[in-house]
Amino acid sequence: MSDTNPEQALCKGCGFCCDDTLFPHAVVEKDEVLPPGFEEVVEEGKRYFTLPCSHFNGMCTIYDKQRGSICGTFQCSVLEDAIEEEISFVEAADLVAKVQSQKARINRLLAAYPGATIRDRYAEFERQHAERKDTMEFKLQYKDLLIEWVVFKARLKRFSPE
Ligand code: SF4
Ligand code: SF4
Repeated sequence: MSDTNPEQALCKGCGFCCDDTLFPHAVVEKDEVLPPGFEEVVEEGKRYFTLPCSHFNGMCTIYDKQRGSICGTFQCSVLEDAIEEEISFVEAADLVAKVQSQKARINRLLAAYPGATIRDRYAEFERQHAERKDTMEFKLQYKDLLIEWVVFKARLKRFSPE
């Protein structure tokens, strides 16, 4: 019998809020003392730790240890809907799987563009083509990637907290 509850199972198979898929950084509470290994940044007076999280390696590697306070409280809207039984955990996992397979397709299409994350690689793609991005030739040449990216961003909105 599994000792993992459905919420943990969904998140362990996802990680989009840890690996920079959804956000470039995670909120740190005002007086919070972060455990070692987090890279903290301050922007406009607010504290964050950067993502991808240094403790993420396919899944959280310190799940049962002290993490950022946000780690124990954050619920994306897909997780929230599953907990509130508006969708099933199977449907939630299917949404995660669709984003994961789409990320893999986009990463293949972005293979020529360096970057630590899919967001970085797409930014590099846009940077390299900034001067011709509005031309029909460019849109036809990269239509597969451009369509995948629009659908990807739309799918990610489903995960955004209200
Ligand atoms: S994005 Fe949602 S489902 Fe995925 S790990 Fe974060 S809270 Fe869990
Ligand atoms: S500590 Fe774990 S749960 Fe928190 S952001 Fe890092 S990988 Fe995700």
